[in-house]
Amino acid sequence: MSTENKKGGISVEAEHIFPIIKKWLYSDKEIFLREIVSNAVDAETKLKRLVSLGEVRDISTSDLAVTVALDKELGTVTVTDNGIGMTAEEVEKYICSIALSGALDFIKEYEGEGSDGKSGIIGHFGLGFYSAFMVADKVEVFTKSYKDAPAVYWVCDSAGSYEMSECDREERGTEIVMHIGDEGKEYLDANALRGILEKYCSFLPVPVYFKGGCDCDHHHEEGKCDCDHDHGEEHECECEKPINDVSPLWQKSASECTDEEYTAFYRKVFSDWREPLLTVHINADYPLNFKGILYFPRRESEFENTEGQIKLYYNQMFVADNIREVIPEHLLMLRGVLDCPELPLNVSRSYLQNNTYVKKIAAHITKKVADKLVSMKENQREKYESIWQDVKTFAEYSCMCDPKFFDRAGDAMLLPICGGGFKTLDEYLEAAKEKHENTVYYAGDEQVQAQYVSMYRKQGIEVALLDRFVDTQFIQLLENKKSGVKFVRVDADVAGALKGESENAAASEALISLFKEASGKEKLNLKLENLLDSTIPAILNISEESRRMDDMMKMYATINGGEERPSFTEETLCININNPMAAALAAKTEFDEGDKLVARQLYGLSALSQRRLDAKELEAFLADSYALLNRITEK
Ligand code: ADP
Repeated sequence: MSTENKKGGISVEAEHIFPIIKKWLYSDKEIFLREIVSNAVDAETKLKRLVSLGEVRDISTSDLAVTVALDKELGTVTVTDNGIGMTAEEVEKYICSIALSGALDFIKEYEGEGSDGKSGIIGHFGLGFYSAFMVADKVEVFTKSYKDAPAVYWVCDSAGSYEMSECDREERGTEIVMHIGDEGKEYLDANALRGILEKYCSFLPVPVYFKGGCDCDHHHEEGKCDCDHDHGEEHECECEKPINDVSPLWQKSASECTDEEYTAFYRKVFSDWREPLLTVHINADYPLNFKGILYFPRRESEFENTEGQIKLYYNQMFVADNIREVIPEHLLMLRGVLDCPELPLNVSRSYLQNNTYVKKIAAHITKKVADKLVSMKENQREKYESIWQDVKTFAEYSCMCDPKFFDRAGDAMLLPICGGGFKTLDEYLEAAKEKHENTVYYAGDEQVQAQYVSMYRKQGIEVALLDRFVDTQFIQLLENKKSGVKFVRVDADVAGALKGESENAAASEALISLFKEASGKEKLNLKLENLLDSTIPAILNISEESRRMDDMMKMYATINGGEERPSFTEETLCININNPMAAALAAKTEFDEGDKLVARQLYGLSALSQRRLDAKELEAFLADSYALLNRITEK
């Protein structure tokens, strides 16, 4: 390529590059603005660094700013900075050649592929500046370096031929004028441009101003200003304020941030008026070197959209939403911002998936979230308990997905207790030491199992409430990890602490057949028990193992859409000989019709306090109940 006469062509290659830029990157062309603004911010940052290193003197950095201006009449979008600027050599080197080699890599890599997913490659290949040609058919550059060198004018059309000359620009910095072509028409609109700037540039480290064609001179004149003010009234126009916050909260250290600031930041970034449940501020040093704030969002119900939103930034420049590869799968419901300057500005999914650095980020996030739960449990117990029901499902799920999470935070998981309050497993077992060592009694449904729960509570035994879908599996995990610990549902067994001292006699054969007939269940087990609570004549127990097996089969059936199958849980009916009526029945050797009716009612009532009766059972139970009422009134 010839540069002597300051005239040239991006020649043969250009014919390849420009159509590709326009076609392949079409789906995401709004990023042209991000690319050009980020170059401008880079130029400011470089200047700031030179000044702070003492390499440049007599330059004030207090007025560093980037301006994006729309001129509808001229059909241009102009980005101006007062950063380092470029000399003629630099324009040739950076704008004419380097970008080109990046573009050639790009073509080599993706020739012959469709446009799907290719929009994320700009930048990675140094095509940043050239992305302007996605929307412009002519680009002009006016630039003056901070060094003592003449200003340069460079202009390039959409076919890739450029011209370069000296110009008389006096201000330091660069002005990029994009003459918007047909394919970029939608960007000749103040709202569209402001929207893009707010999306990508809200936290850039240098003030960015947007002049959306407003020419109001701080007095409203119809048609000239989109500010909402009365005619003639003096006001501060939107264009006087930067569109960005140059020092976003994640750049501060956690000890400098207040809860109010975290909440305000959350509300602003996610447009959610609710308060987040908890906040995790990450400030990872070398070698990870990334910062971020993650939030557990509050949700109205277990079923509200659980898709989170993580915004990924690169030195305060927004890159993308929801990069799944960076967040561990089990924490995808988190919302937040991550600033990872070590990641290339734009990268492909496959690059992220195989990147060990990305894996380390994900592991670090897991660790920080786990540590936050532990520290809240230890230092903010009341607040921790108040959010636990909302965090529980995700915390337990994380324990199951990631052994490291369980190792760190497993002991911070709370068991809700029937009747109120929360205990960790250790606290529960400590209290249980005397009466039921290493056994956790739990209810799967506080309403349905209310009768059992109250029997336990009357004897001073705490019942945990494990009623979530994920609890079934979480229990298994705890039993595997904590050797010796057993979880027993309240209706699984009559606990020792519920029984009186005396030995029980075995049920007679006659009594066994009476109840088999009454229940219609050939496999029903019958036991005589001496329960401390004499008001209950009989209770039904379902073996823990067979019930868990049954639950699991039902779950698979639900997941696989299979038909509901009858359960085959083992039932044991316990007749309470401490209840006078039940004791009298158990003492009989022969049974008349009245006894059979009583037996059917006893079975029906105990089944009813354990589960829902099926249609047939309910019909029979009601018929028997009416018959009983008749008998009473007949007497
Ligand atoms: P990248 O930013 O990835 O290096 P670009 O094509 O966007 O690739 O830019 C190429 C180079 O041109 C930049 O690295 C920088 O040296 C120079 N450049 C671009 N825009 C400006 C600007 N506004 N001020 C100073 N230099 C710039």
